[in-house]
Amino acid sequence: MKMRRREFIAGLAGAAAGSVLKAQTPTPLPARGEFVIRDAYIMTMDPQLGDIATGSVRVKNGVIEEIGKSINTKAATVIDGRRCIVLPGLIDTHWHMWTTYMRSMAGDQSNDGYFPITTRYGQAMEPIDMYRSTKLATAEAIYSGVTTVGDNCHNVRRHDYAVQDIRAIQESGLRCRWSYGAYRGIPAGTRIDMVDLESFQANWSKYSNDGLISLGFLWGGVPLGPDTPANREGLAAARKEFEIARRLKIPMCVHWASRENTPAGQVAALAKENFLGKDVLLVHMLATSPEEMKMVAAAGSPISVSPGSELRIGYGLTKASAFMDAGIVVAVSIDSVPLTGNANIFGILKLMRNAENAKAFDEFKLTAKRALQMATIDGARALGLDDQIGSLKPGKRADLIMVRTDHLNMGVFTDPAHLLVEATEDADVDTVVVDGRILKRSGKLTAMNPEQVMAGAAASLEAVGKRVG
Ligand SMILES: [Zn+2]
Repeated sequence: MKMRRREFIAGLAGAAAGSVLKAQTPTPLPARGEFVIRDAYIMTMDPQLGDIATGSVRVKNGVIEEIGKSINTKAATVIDGRRCIVLPGLIDTHWHMWTTYMRSMAGDQSNDGYFPITTRYGQAMEPIDMYRSTKLATAEAIYSGVTTVGDNCHNVRRHDYAVQDIRAIQESGLRCRWSYGAYRGIPAGTRIDMVDLESFQANWSKYSNDGLISLGFLWGGVPLGPDTPANREGLAAARKEFEIARRLKIPMCVHWASRENTPAGQVAALAKENFLGKDVLLVHMLATSPEEMKMVAAAGSPISVSPGSELRIGYGLTKASAFMDAGIVVAVSIDSVPLTGNANIFGILKLMRNAENAKAFDEFKLTAKRALQMATIDGARALGLDDQIGSLKPGKRADLIMVRTDHLNMGVFTDPAHLLVEATEDADVDTVVVDGRILKRSGKLTAMNPEQVMAGAAASLEAVGKRVG
């Protein structure tokens, strides 16, 4: 495969800086063939089909053709599912993938916390660095069983930054809602470049990967605080952005009411402007009052909670159960690996469930199965994809994973939902299928070379670090 000019130049720059930056030739995505997984414990997450203790799934050309106790087929490939759990692929609803190689760099002092670090590095990154870090994120996503990502790209310094971020996702084969956002260190009062967003939408067929990747908008919300000329101007700009996104039918995502110890009223401010709805995914929302939860439920906005990052950064304790009790669709997200340490959604669900049970002084407040629903069918609902993915049933797209239970951290097959939420690690994810393509098999990525991806990420981080100084 031919090296792109930009990549070639970046490679030269890396070499000149004394670091090895090999061009990464992407492996072509596997074909969507036909295969059957036999004799697995199948957790369909579909209310009618339920769990099938020893069942089979047949996939053909990207679609789930059959699920049942026994399937008669001469499918070319048979995958042995004994001692394995098959479930829908995990759905992340909000992740800033470009920050991934800054893992463990958010330190213990205020000048090297999450925001200062990602801002300093974000400002020093070139488009190729966005590609390298997001590429690492895509490899980790697939390795850990994530089949859909909500990539919220908030370092779009120029058009090319977005193009390179999307390229990494295109090469991965992941399903994605890619959301166009602002950039690190954006001056106060500066708004997102809606003309550029609109140009992406007009040319989206170049990026959509056969419909796997859709376009979203990471909106900044409305200004809060007193009625000042600057705030009035900000509100007018926010209204215009919202109106453009709605007109273009681009779904939105907004980080809102993030810290629990800030006054309620922020969500009411959105509701007052009619800035809620099924197409507006709300992130964090820890400062939401019970009254405001009713507003969110009535408007149909889903909420994406990211307990892994919220707990780590000190935003407060999760409110996932309260949101669900209020009738809101609640999905889960990774948010940012510099805060969570990894992209293991099972681990994030475990953290959330334990925090919810602790808050309620109740061992049974949030069940393992309910937690899994958040990372599967409710994640699909939050992204408006539940007619295609999120549960396993004939006719849906084939996004599924298979988890081994014959590893030492499990050892025996007991309760499947509890095994998934309480014991599963990335290495237990044996097989990952996105849209009928097998992207991980027998514990190994099939369409990416992890060593190459890590070498690219390391060289890029080193070069960016030098620029940061
Ligand atoms: Zn976020």
